[in-house]
Amino acid sequence: MALRPIKKVLVANRGEIACRVIACCQARGIATATVFSEPDRASRHVLDAGEAICIGPAPARESYLDIGKVLAAAKKCGADAIHPGYGFLSENAVFAAACDEAGLLFIGPTASAIRALGNKTAARQLVSRHGVPLVPGVEEPIASAREGLEAAGRIGFPVLIKAAAGGGGKGMRVVREPSDFASAFERAGSEAMASFGDSSIYVEKYLASPRHIEVQVMADLHGHAVYLGERECSVQRRHQKLLEETPSVCVTPQLRLRMGEAALAAVRAAGYSNLGTVEFLVDEERNFFFLEVNTRLQVEHPVTEAVTGLDLVYEQIRIAEGHELSVRQQDVQPRGHAIECRVSAEDPFAGFVPSPGRIRVYKEPRAPWVRVDTGIYAGYEVSLHYDPLLSKVIAWGPDRATAIERMADALRDYVIEGIRTSIPFHLLLLSNPQFVAGNLATDFIDRHMEIEQSGGSREHRDVAAFAAAWLRHTRTAESAKAPRAGSAGNWQLAGRPGGRRPWA
Ligand code: ADP
Repeated sequence: MALRPIKKVLVANRGEIACRVIACCQARGIATATVFSEPDRASRHVLDAGEAICIGPAPARESYLDIGKVLAAAKKCGADAIHPGYGFLSENAVFAAACDEAGLLFIGPTASAIRALGNKTAARQLVSRHGVPLVPGVEEPIASAREGLEAAGRIGFPVLIKAAAGGGGKGMRVVREPSDFASAFERAGSEAMASFGDSSIYVEKYLASPRHIEVQVMADLHGHAVYLGERECSVQRRHQKLLEETPSVCVTPQLRLRMGEAALAAVRAAGYSNLGTVEFLVDEERNFFFLEVNTRLQVEHPVTEAVTGLDLVYEQIRIAEGHELSVRQQDVQPRGHAIECRVSAEDPFAGFVPSPGRIRVYKEPRAPWVRVDTGIYAGYEVSLHYDPLLSKVIAWGPDRATAIERMADALRDYVIEGIRTSIPFHLLLLSNPQFVAGNLATDFIDRHMEIEQSGGSREHRDVAAFAAAWLRHTRTAESAKAPRAGSAGNWQLAGRPGGRRPWA
């Protein structure tokens, strides 16, 4: 198979992931271009890329999601490949096929692999034929509330109604009683139609307190595939991930092997190439169940990079060019522990409401074991048009306790002024004794963090704001005095052993 070296990549995305891909290309001597919507004119990805082409107004449908405009931009700048990042067009089989037809390399799986795995019911059917265990449920979309109720009865309540085309935690409804089923079914259908343009829904068992653990896989166009270990993504709010780490404290070497092989079986079933993530739920007895395959680069890919030493974006590019994988399974020997915190423009103490505005002061933490992937800068105006994710902080340590400590230090040193961010939430999380003990599940926040319940209260908010300011101040005062030993400031305030937090 002839190699197709890539000379110029059009990055069809925005925010931190566009910057991440641009940086990778630039480091490898590949020219870059990007697209942007009108309000994104001064965005960091526009400033970072070699060239930038405006493709329309703020609504994503008229810019970042417009296949015709993205392809025209690629043609205009003479790109030979497109990197879709995550979200937007990244899992759109029509887009991948259109790139192909236009003679552009789509840096991702083939359109047919995306099609095979993109729909959740189709993916369930496919992988179960290859021995991958599923969350108990139906494998065909449900045609009527009556049919759904019958299926729910067989599965056993509580059940989860899900959109077959779903993503981003949208369009899911838990139903605990048969009497609630019909109305939840109707609402889920119209929500799925509104969000995904496809009203097909299906039903599966709603597992109590599972962990969300996913396996990173990588496959080339020559039939080789490897798995790169797992990521624990159980800390979620409304089914959206807030913190991810690798390895998972609950995964034993035997379980890793079984999950890794199941993940490979799932992607092989679809004739998959490039990077992909197979998501599983894991119950308290360590049984794992297939959820879905994300056919793209994942937000949380840096934790895998931190422990494997691989540059996953570069691996994507190499695979698209036609190279064989740079590693064999036995070469994958993850080292240490890595954590990622998603920093968003949201006020965690007011129910995570968006917090748009101008960033007045911006200073990133610096340490040998800390990485910040960001799409912002001092003076940048955070708008309400897009996802509130601003940046990601990744900390590595030889073990989990050190990684947690280093992450807390990094977040304390991270200054973003002018808007509210999720940083104080992460500081509380990192000092939560249950988190520190690794007792994670997808309902962790509801169960173990009082912050959600008391979110709106003025008093709570003030104490939290004070805590964040105090933490930063302590750090500054301490470093002015002498080199610090450990991270006592944060731990003492936010997680005093045996003591109640002042705002709990
Ligand atoms: P999406 O594609 O919208 O992100 P997923 O199927 O990946 O949806 O699920 C997202 C999250 O929703 C999971 O991480 C988990 O927290 C929750 N979830 C999904 N399916 C189930 C289930 N059957 N039981 C319990 N929780 C679930």
